Amino acid sequence: MFATSIAGSLPKPEWLAETQKLWPQWKAEGDALRQAKADATLLWIKAQEDAGLDIIGDGEQARQHFVHGFLEQVEGIDFDNKVKMGIRNNRYDAMVPQVVSALKLKGRVHAMEAQLLRAHTKKKIKFTLPGPMTIVDTVADRFYGEGVDGRIKMAMAFAELLNQEALALQADGVDIIQFDEPAFNVYMEEAADWGVKALERAALGLTCTTAVHICYGYGIQANVDWKNTLGHEWRQYEKIFPALTKSSIDQVSLECFHSHVPMDLIALLEGKDVMVGVIDVASDTIETPEEVADTIGKALKFVNKDRLFPCTNCGLAPMSREVALKKLEALAKGAALARERIAGVNLFFRQIALCVHASQQEWDLFTQPRQKR
Ligand code: ZN
Repeated sequence: MFATSIAGSLPKPEWLAETQKLWPQWKAEGDALRQAKADATLLWIKAQEDAGLDIIGDGEQARQHFVHGFLEQVEGIDFDNKVKMGIRNNRYDAMVPQVVSALKLKGRVHAMEAQLLRAHTKKKIKFTLPGPMTIVDTVADRFYGEGVDGRIKMAMAFAELLNQEALALQADGVDIIQFDEPAFNVYMEEAADWGVKALERAALGLTCTTAVHICYGYGIQANVDWKNTLGHEWRQYEKIFPALTKSSIDQVSLECFHSHVPMDLIALLEGKDVMVGVIDVASDTIETPEEVADTIGKALKFVNKDRLFPCTNCGLAPMSREVALKKLEALAKGAALARERIAGVNLFFRQIALCVHASQQEWDLFTQPRQKR
């Protein structure tokens, strides 16, 4: 019960890449870089285990950015001529590569990290890939054409490539494949209309657990400013969850702690596992186990305990390594406390039941002779 995991990314050590950046520059090249990526992956596998997490990830140490890490292995994308583009509905500008011809995978994308992960932990492992709609929102198109038709065509093309890699990750022994779709929270109508279909195409034929992560973004200033414009109640999930509930995706990861998402929206995900965000990624303040257990307790009103998986609100990539480590520990300790609380409540009810049973016997002893009379 309450198996813990992170949403996906973790900070890169300073010997691997620039720190506290979303698009950090690598500190090495060639074989030295490949080795450094592997070393950082191993380091975070150990750190997640030491913190007491139940489901382990690669911390996305081998990709510069959660979307562009995948795109680097796709033929038909020009990385040499990046252009500035407003992403997430112009929330912030990013330098993005351009799609210039038909898309094809150059080969495996994440074999090294997935195989390292499987070889170095006996726990369940989760692997993240960007979702098709979020990819479409993080790349410039010079091939598929303007408008929604072009976007759908491009999303479906990426979904096929994601599916190839997802099936290979499953063969590597990955237990949970999670697609990250922060764009679902920005283009809600399009997400419900075709985003979920593209997601299902990416997950086609997978027999391992499938998941989608939908958040309000990393803890960067542009996202904090955007959140401040969203008002008292954030109801974006309300528009997407019904389509996801009908979909074949098994788990949904969402943002909860320190957000203005009404908890009762979780009830819309009937029949799905819910990864509840109990760790804030926009603040360096470390959550107490009590705070984490309280958030779990609030979510339990809307999702069965066997379907609740405590998680972080989003990735921890732009944070300091020290803060991220403490947040992992808080997550594990908070989930442990929530389990204790449930055990305590169960014990209480067992004792009540015993008392009632005992009273019933006494009552029977008292009343039976009379009835016989
Ligand atoms: Zn996220």
